[in-house]
Amino acid sequence: MATKILSAALIGLTAELVEVEADSGGGDFGQITIVGLPDTSVSEAKERVKSALRNCSCEFPRRKITVNLAPTNVKKHGSSYDLPIALSILALKNKFIANFDESLIVGELSLSGEVRSVNGILAIALKTKSLGIKNLFIPEENKQEARLIPNLKIFPVKNLKQLIDHFKNKKAISLYEEPPLDLKLFSNINRREPNIDFAVIKGQEKAKRALEIVAAGGHNILMIGPPGSGKTLLAQALPGILPPLSEEEALEVTNIYSVADELKNKLSLITERPFRAPHHSASGVALIGGGAWPRPGEISLAHRGVLFLDELPEFVRSALENLRQPLEEGLININRAAGSLKFPCRFILIAAMNPCPCGYQGDKKNICHCTDKKIVDYRHRISGPLIDRIDLHINVPRISFEKLENDNNGENSALIKTRVKKARRKQSKRFINFTFSTNAEMNNEAVRSFCLLDTEGRKLLKIAVSRLNLSSRSYFRVLKIARTIADLADSSLILPEHLAEALQYRPKIE
Ligand SMILES: [Zn+2]
Repeated sequence: MATKILSAALIGLTAELVEVEADSGGGDFGQITIVGLPDTSVSEAKERVKSALRNCSCEFPRRKITVNLAPTNVKKHGSSYDLPIALSILALKNKFIANFDESLIVGELSLSGEVRSVNGILAIALKTKSLGIKNLFIPEENKQEARLIPNLKIFPVKNLKQLIDHFKNKKAISLYEEPPLDLKLFSNINRREPNIDFAVIKGQEKAKRALEIVAAGGHNILMIGPPGSGKTLLAQALPGILPPLSEEEALEVTNIYSVADELKNKLSLITERPFRAPHHSASGVALIGGGAWPRPGEISLAHRGVLFLDELPEFVRSALENLRQPLEEGLININRAAGSLKFPCRFILIAAMNPCPCGYQGDKKNICHCTDKKIVDYRHRISGPLIDRIDLHINVPRISFEKLENDNNGENSALIKTRVKKARRKQSKRFINFTFSTNAEMNNEAVRSFCLLDTEGRKLLKIAVSRLNLSSRSYFRVLKIARTIADLADSSLILPEHLAEALQYRPKIE
């Protein structure tokens, strides 16, 4: 009877159980055929496994070998089946004493038999635990990641020989027994952007205030300003005033990075909010996610963090249109032949653009030579529905030299963060019975219950609706922002001044 080796397939962000078994017969070929919907990346395992077995001085059955990966309706991708395939072949000729039922095995093999790291270990470890499988055999390099899931026996494997000796009861692989990671002590090593403190950004009080509102309520923002006005710096400073990730959110984000192979050094837990700034030349797939073997895109890598799209009108239009569902629902549907996949992408969008193609419309020092038509065309590259999904719109002018010279440093990020955290706590309490947790995510019904105005406020809103010709979407948007402003001011009612400020952030492009 063939020996079944348990392994796992990654489907989107989750893992599924895969059983690997080998059979031999017919001919004296020493050939391997892999069946069970492998793609080309799995088929390449044949050469690696053959070579690795040879280099471990293992006897290779001199007959034709068929390896089956079950269930056969799940497409298999990647190199993580190398190790279970090698074991299943060895089991044809060797007597293994150990029981394979209690172990799940993943790992890529090098030609010399060394075990290499694989993606998605966190999802695989979670699946192993949920199936009640006790032991998890993984590449040595991935052991820190597996450590995030408690109550699982982790066996880090360096090479094939070690694994063979273990299952032959010759020499056991030592159990990895580090205590589970303490989220509070673990520092992040995945941070790509420098942590910009608000105190180093001179001037731009209005923009800083808007970003505080953005952080406090989880809103999106569009900054319009000439080159050199500091839009990028402002965007980079935003993660520094966001509240830290909760333990659950940290695992969620780490899982996405693990599946996308974006975890650096294979030992990290992501504890800080991601900041992603894809270039405008990024393809739709890179931005949104997808591909033959769907991979999370930039919007999912920005999950629970910040997505910065500089020079917004320069992005591929179809990719921008695909941002609508993520902005509304916090997830993206990726369609593929074998059904659709959902990737989470609840991010804060900071978009930035120049006021016109040359960048200097309205600038005091430089003259803009763009024609009206050119400016209109430029702005129309961003569709109305997308503009409609961005809560705050601000102008970020260039600051004068005098201001740069004289400006004392403003508040530092730590101070602003304290206020943001306080406002977020109010929202967590308010939305305790809801599926969302920030003002920005409120549906219309929630806006009606939680965005209460006093008499003066109602009067002001009525005037604004008629004079500014507010659409229904803008009406709700203004109230959500006003709610956040009131939360920052520690006021349960939305007062006229909160509403007046919220109205300033309405779209500058119509
Ligand atoms: Zn211009």
